[in-house]
Amino acid sequence: MPKLQPDQVHNFIVHTCQALGSEPLEAELVADQLVDANLAGHDSHGVGMLPSYVDGVVNGRLRINSHPTVVVDGGALLTLDGNAGFGQVNGHEAMSMGMERASEHGVAVVGLRNSYHIGRIGHWAEQCAAGGFASLHLVNVIGHPPLVAAYGGAEARFGTNPFCAAVPGRDGRPGFLLDMATSIIAGGKARVAANKGVKVPPNTIIDVDGNLTDDPNAFWYTDPTGKRGGALVAFGDHKGSGLAIMCELLSAALLGGETAHPKNPRDGRIINNMLSIIIDPAATGEAEAFFDEIELFRDFVLESRLRSDCDQILVPGQPEQIAREERAGGFDVDPVTLEQLRASASRAGLEAEEITALIGDA
Ligand code: NAD
Repeated sequence: MPKLQPDQVHNFIVHTCQALGSEPLEAELVADQLVDANLAGHDSHGVGMLPSYVDGVVNGRLRINSHPTVVVDGGALLTLDGNAGFGQVNGHEAMSMGMERASEHGVAVVGLRNSYHIGRIGHWAEQCAAGGFASLHLVNVIGHPPLVAAYGGAEARFGTNPFCAAVPGRDGRPGFLLDMATSIIAGGKARVAANKGVKVPPNTIIDVDGNLTDDPNAFWYTDPTGKRGGALVAFGDHKGSGLAIMCELLSAALLGGETAHPKNPRDGRIINNMLSIIIDPAATGEAEAFFDEIELFRDFVLESRLRSDCDQILVPGQPEQIAREERAGGFDVDPVTLEQLRASASRAGLEAEEITALIGDA
């Protein structure tokens, strides 16, 4: 498996985005987030997303060099329209504006609607944490057919709607960072398992007949008319399904964004809507106690005896920290993804020799 250096991948993404027509800062922001997702261990949201972005730009669904516009400015309440621009620009600017408002008011509620894919949501919580803010983010995904069934249902009705929350540590990094899809497994994981001919964990997919299964092909089943039949299962039965539904309503419906019902277009866009609540710990008057409590609580959680079937305890955000340590010297990109990256760079307008110089041969 080819191992690539983070700087090398970053440079490749910058060049590909600039070949598409992105201004330098936009290209940098896209590269920053995608490489950081790989480093955090989330390859599903890393450089492997680039081909879908190139496709979005080429097909006119993703607008380059676009910035969020203010729809509602109520002081601590801000609604922004992402204008189907790069999520990496929309997310970055929305969080910057939100932190400014939270500094002023103690809290900011920032709605970002109609953004192209905003990637790994933890990136936005980390931006807030680096500024010293606690934050909560609820997200929905639209533009393509839904992937996840509501509890009790056999047909997909919403996306993998992520929920994310982080509290900052004293050093500006998140003290805790919970960043998760609300389906048990991601759609991409089912695709990888199907390609490899392996099973997914039991009861994570619902087949076309409404039965729970571990067969990934059941998720990708399409009938002769091209209609997809399978669905992913939301985590935690009615609780995860309920959280996904609230993500749908609070991130989108509340902000004038679209939910996943079929009256909204399903034209292949990857649109995210996100509601962020950003809180300045200093405004509570208890910031020092807050940081003390975070540290004491973390120790208390980690010092527990182990459950008999588990060999370690981690707190949310720790797996990503561990991945960053392990991947700092480079990360694997599988040959299929590498070939897709080369093809997308070519589609963006880079010459074959330049692509090889940037990312190597297939
Ligand atoms: P995951 O299951 O790998 O991790 C979820 C959370 O659990 C993380 O906060 C992680 O730190 C924590 N965690 C993992 N293992 C743990 C352990 N053993 N002990 C304690 N905590 C642990 O993540 P996921 O649900 O597969 O989501 C992957 C990424 O996909 C996320 O970054 C999410 O934002 C992103 N996503 C984005 C979209 C979008 O449309 N933009 C949609 C869905 C998911």
